[in-house]
Amino acid sequence: MIEKLAEETLSGWGNIPKSPCNVAYPTQEGELINYHPEESMLARGKGRSYADQATNSDHIILKMERMNHFLSFDEETGLLTCEAGATLDEIIRVFASRGWFPMINPGTKFVTLGGAVANDIHGKAHHVDGSFVNSVEYFTILLSDGRILKASRTENEDLFWANFGGLGLLGVILTVCIRLRKIETTYFVQKSIVAKNLDEMLAAIDSADEQYNYSVAWIDSLATGKNFGKGVLVVGNEAKLEDLPANLRKNPLKTGGVSKLTVPFYLPSFTLNKLTVSMLNKVLYIKQKGGTGISHYDGFFFPLDMINEWNRGYGKKGFIQYQFVVPEEGGKESIRLILDAITKSGCVPFLNVLKKFGEGQGAPLSFPMKGYTFAIDFPVTDRLKDFTKKLDKMVLDAGGRIYLGKDAYLDEATFKAMYPQHKEWLEVKRKYDPKGVYSSDLARRIGLTIQ
Ligand SMILES: Cc1cc2nc3c(=O)[nH]c(=O)nc-3n(C[C@H](O)[C@H](O)[C@H](O)COP(=O)(O)OP(=O)(O)OC[C@H]3O[C@@H](n4cnc5c(N)ncnc54)[C@H](O)[C@@H]3O)c2cc1C
Repeated sequence: MIEKLAEETLSGWGNIPKSPCNVAYPTQEGELINYHPEESMLARGKGRSYADQATNSDHIILKMERMNHFLSFDEETGLLTCEAGATLDEIIRVFASRGWFPMINPGTKFVTLGGAVANDIHGKAHHVDGSFVNSVEYFTILLSDGRILKASRTENEDLFWANFGGLGLLGVILTVCIRLRKIETTYFVQKSIVAKNLDEMLAAIDSADEQYNYSVAWIDSLATGKNFGKGVLVVGNEAKLEDLPANLRKNPLKTGGVSKLTVPFYLPSFTLNKLTVSMLNKVLYIKQKGGTGISHYDGFFFPLDMINEWNRGYGKKGFIQYQFVVPEEGGKESIRLILDAITKSGCVPFLNVLKKFGEGQGAPLSFPMKGYTFAIDFPVTDRLKDFTKKLDKMVLDAGGRIYLGKDAYLDEATFKAMYPQHKEWLEVKRKYDPKGVYSSDLARRIGLTIQ
């Protein structure tokens, strides 16, 4: 039984906002079942969402990291059932050396299964594998009335779909059954393609998606004139045993270690002026254009995980990641217009990642749709919020939408226009959480609440 709540100030990965929350650390299902406080609650994973997705100011947060046990694994089918606080990192560390790997991998492995469901996360293979829902067989969820339901494509289907992108607002996901993929090696054959401008880059992305399972592009958003949109496209496929050089073949299922590098404190924000950004883009450009080679999964999927707490590099004011998707039709022109607005804005962008999504899976609040997605890190400045409002309008006019797992500033009206299926989702919320017990700062900001 949960008795004690600790007062903690919580933020998202961008170190904003700073929200005072009352935090509990459940260790097993039994502690949660009879826990019916009067006030609002929300589950939280590893806090890798960027802003107020996993904060609940002055209310209860259930940190799920201690509910991370593995419950069962079927060597025949690759089906793994875990408590929802287990992370992809924990799964990879145990299963990669046995020849199994998660199907969907975002840019960090430090995410829980609960968080992966709640944002229906995607990776560099979205055009082939789709989003996280495609790897999930079923999950169990604790509702606000104390019932635990199993949800799958054939059982409580509405609850199943509404949770992918459902931002933890329907209950506490307790266990998740995912399908792991059989692998021959933990390596990838990777190729870097340099594109001199945006036209070249978009053409390269289109043709790469037909040949490679994984593709993602890094764009130098400070480049202008004939270099506007230049960058490096990194593509790859799983390496087979015969693709590996002799020295790697000795241990083809090698797993990674723990990073020893940490940003020890918040760096002053002036370290991120235009000059350093331009230098960083140059380094990334040179590093990524290194041609063809074999890459271990840590470098291939999770390069940012190599430095712990890298988010502190943005200083105490924090940063946002602005990620949007625009439909394939007219998408190239929309990307050009938005990138142009960014380069002229005076808001210095940091990392810029461009990718093409395949079809979305149809969950009402899930982000991916067929088209181009662009993610840009901006350090927080006084004018950033006003600037993102302009970008929101451009994205909406282009028929696109913002990724709620990363959003910091979207308003209710714009969110509702971008996600017309919010109405269907709210019906499910009324059915399973009629008193609106599960809530978050984000939910209140964009109107994912029931009156
Ligand atoms: C460096 C970096 C790279 C990233 N790259 C990608 C990427 O490539 N693709 C992508 O899609 N995302 C990406 N993300 C975002 C990240 O994958 C998602 O935000 C993910 O949801 C974070 O998981 P978490 O466990 O940290 O959840 P949190 O951030 O703690 O919470 C996220 C949401 O999940 C809910 N939640 C968590 N646990 C439960 C539970 N047990 N039951 C119910 N609800 C729950 C919370 O209420 C909240 O709404 C990236 C983030 C970082 C920092």
